[in-house]
Amino acid sequence: MDIRKITVLGAGLMGHGIAQVAAQIGKYDVTMRDVERRFIDNGMNMIKDSLERFVKKSQMTEVEMNEILARIHTTLDLREAVSDADLIIEAIPENVELKRTTFKEADAWAPPHAIIASNTSSVSITELASATGRPEKVCGMHFFNPPQLMKLVEIIKGAKTSDETIQTITETAHKLGKETVLVKKDSPGFIVNRILIPALNEAAALHWEGVADRDDIDRAVKLGLNWPMGPLMLLDYIGADTTLAIAEVLAKEIDPKFHASPGLKQMVKAQLLGRKTGKGYYEWTQK
Ligand code: NAD
Repeated sequence: MDIRKITVLGAGLMGHGIAQVAAQIGKYDVTMRDVERRFIDNGMNMIKDSLERFVKKSQMTEVEMNEILARIHTTLDLREAVSDADLIIEAIPENVELKRTTFKEADAWAPPHAIIASNTSSVSITELASATGRPEKVCGMHFFNPPQLMKLVEIIKGAKTSDETIQTITETAHKLGKETVLVKKDSPGFIVNRILIPALNEAAALHWEGVADRDDIDRAVKLGLNWPMGPLMLLDYIGADTTLAIAEVLAKEIDPKFHASPGLKQMVKAQLLGRKTGKGYYEWTQK
């Protein structure tokens, strides 16, 4: 299927980045929808800041920047956002009920041929698909943060997703300059988070048990495994709350062995969430 128009639902951290990549790299006609004007303005400002950095480094002309910006339309109206979309990428908060309602509404107003993909990190694709009348046209399209820089997209097949849908999404992700992997079963955490979250949880456990100090845990993994940053610092970037939420889904849906460590839970109880609260395993100043 030929994708020409992409609609991104959500102008937050992930949504604005996906919209930018679609307009900049894929040269698609993009519509970005959020529920309040200030969120859209904030998303558009982040896109402008990012493009201006390319211009400053002479990697892009001002004319090219303006062409990219002109390809991104914004709206608060879901019906208007999806009514002529070929592909809808949902990047709204990680809440099953909110996502199911949005899928149901998007399904009612989108053209019958449109594919609806979710950027969810942990919600079941099959559960989202069942809120629509087109489960064969629903799949996971999981970008990584920040979508402008990170190369990978995990493509997730729900129980009823058709091979044609997977093929179209794979081709589209390649047009966005991404590398793809196929997750053949809709299993929580997909590939990356199922490996990463237990590793971060173990780092939190080592710290909590006093087996080693923060800096030694991070240095050990950086030097011993060649990670670009240590697990406790990465945990601060992702947020202890997000990490805990994913660990709980893995424990509930796959195996109790994935249960969160008391150390991780303690960080959340103390609101030591990381960068977003100014303190986690590290201190995060304004800059
Ligand atoms: P965010 O909170 O930064 O952005 C979500 C945006 O969606 C907000 O601006 C909110 O106002 C908007 N929104 C709420 N309801 C909406 C609706 N009905 N229609 C349109 N917009 C609506 O969240 P985020 O970090 O961008 O995460 C979005 C999704 O991406 C989640 O499912 C998350 O699990 C997933 N994800 C996040 C990351 C990450 O590192 N943050 C990485 C991969 C995937």
